[in-house]
Amino acid sequence: MKKYSSLQEIQKSLAKGQLTLADLLSYYFEQISANEHLNAFNEVFFHSANLQAKAVQEKLNNGTAGKLAGMVIGIKDNICYKDHAVTASSKMLDGFVAPYSATVVERLLAEDAIIIGRLNCDEFAMGGSNETSHFGVVKNAKDHSLVPGGSSGGSAVAVQADMCLAALGTDTGGSVRQPAAFCGQIGLKPSYGRISRYGVIAYASSFDQVGPITSSISDAALLLEVLAGADQYDSTVSPNQVPAYSEKLANPPIKKIAVLQETIDSDALDPEIKAAVLSSIERLKKDGHQIEYVSFDLLDYLVPTYYILTAAEASSNLSRYDGVHYGHRNTDAKSLTELYKKSRAEGFGEEVQRRILLGTFVLSAGYYDAYYQKAQRVRRLIKEKVEALFTSFDLILLPVAPTTAFKIGDNLQDPLVMYMADIFTVLASLTGNPAIALPIGNNKAGLPLSIQFVAGQFNEEELLAFSQQFLKN
Ligand code: GLN
Repeated sequence: MKKYSSLQEIQKSLAKGQLTLADLLSYYFEQISANEHLNAFNEVFFHSANLQAKAVQEKLNNGTAGKLAGMVIGIKDNICYKDHAVTASSKMLDGFVAPYSATVVERLLAEDAIIIGRLNCDEFAMGGSNETSHFGVVKNAKDHSLVPGGSSGGSAVAVQADMCLAALGTDTGGSVRQPAAFCGQIGLKPSYGRISRYGVIAYASSFDQVGPITSSISDAALLLEVLAGADQYDSTVSPNQVPAYSEKLANPPIKKIAVLQETIDSDALDPEIKAAVLSSIERLKKDGHQIEYVSFDLLDYLVPTYYILTAAEASSNLSRYDGVHYGHRNTDAKSLTELYKKSRAEGFGEEVQRRILLGTFVLSAGYYDAYYQKAQRVRRLIKEKVEALFTSFDLILLPVAPTTAFKIGDNLQDPLVMYMADIFTVLASLTGNPAIALPIGNNKAGLPLSIQFVAGQFNEEELLAFSQQFLKN
C-alpha cells in the first residue's frame, strides 16, 4: 500500500472504493510489526481498533461517517482510554486500567477516528529524549543510534515510520515540538487552555497541553478543530469559540515576524540548524513577509524558571501515586509510611524522583519565596515581554532545539545538559502561546532540521494557515 500523508488522501481513496478501513488498518499493523525494534508502541489496541474500523466502515458505506473517518491515530501513553491500560511509561502505573476516557479520546472517537495503540514516552512525560521510559528508549527511524526526542518520542516515531497517520502527544515544555523536529514531522502545541486535559495524566498543570504530531498541516488543523473547545470536566479550557481551522488554511496575509536575536546568536545552536533557519528567513523575506530582529534578554532565565515551576507542580501532581490508590504497591512494608516510601522508591524512575525532590525543595517553607515565588514573578515578566512583542508582530520565529537528534546515552549523564536543550521550546510553554515545529529539510548527515513559529494567544488559525503556506513555498 502507498504511504498516505494526509487524511484527505485517505478519504479520497475510501470514497473511490480503492481502499477499505480493514485494509488500511492491517497495513498499519504490518508497519508496526515491521518496526517493532523502534519500540514506539507500549501496546497495540488490535481488538478495539478492529471493532472501531468495522463500525466506521459501516458508517462510510451508509454516508453517516464523521470528520475523522479514515484517520488511524496513536495516543501517547499518558492519555486515558476507557478499559485500556495506561502507564505514563512508568512502573508506578503497572497494571492500571483507565476507568474512563480522556475528553480528547471521546472527541476522536465521536468523529470516527481509529485509535491504534498507546505510544512510548519519557516517564510521566519528564524528559527530552525518551530515555527515561520504564519500557526502554525509542529509536529514531532515521538512525537507530539516535534518540527520537521526547517526551512524546513514540508519538513522533510512529508517524515518522508510518505506523499510523497521526499521533497525539502532550507538550509541557516542548514534548510535541522537539520530537516532531527530531523526526522530521509537524508538531503543534496549542494555546494553554485550548484543549481539555481531562483524563490526561498530569505533569505540570499550568503548562500541560495536548498536541498533534502529523505529516500535514491539514491533519494538524483538523485534529485541533475536533479536539479544541470548552469541556465541563476541565475548567482551564477556554470557552473561546473554535474556528474551522481546516477550512481556513488558504491565502494567509503577509506577516510581521520577530526573530529573537539571542536565539540565533546562541553558542549552543548547531551551525547547520542556524544556516537552515537563516535561509528560511531569506525565503520569508522574498515572499514579502516583514522580518525584524528583536532582542530577547530574558533567554537565560527561561530554563531555570521552567524547571523550578514544573518540578514544583510535578511534586504536587505525583503525590497521588502512593502505592494505595494506583498501580505499583510494595509488598513487604510494615507500616503505612513505609508502604508509601517503598512503593514510590520502587515505582518511580530516577528522573521522576529527582524532579519530585527538587519540586518539594522549592516549595518547602524556607525556600518557597527564594525559588518558587521568584520563578512565578519571572514567568510574569517573560509573559509580559512576549505579550508586548505581539502588539507589534504577528509571529515570533526561533529554532526548535539547539541540536538535531543526538546519540542515545549522550545527554544522560548530566541532567542539566538535557534541561538546557529545552531552551527554545519552553518560551511558549511559560507564556501559554501556541507554537509549531515545522520541518525545513535535512542536514548533511540526512537528519531532520526544524524551525519554530509562535503566534499570539489563541491565534492557531493564523499559525496554521501561515504554516501551510510556508511548507508549500
Ligand atoms: N523536556 C521537557 C521536560 O522534561 C519537556 C517535557 C514535556 O514537554 N513533557 O520537562
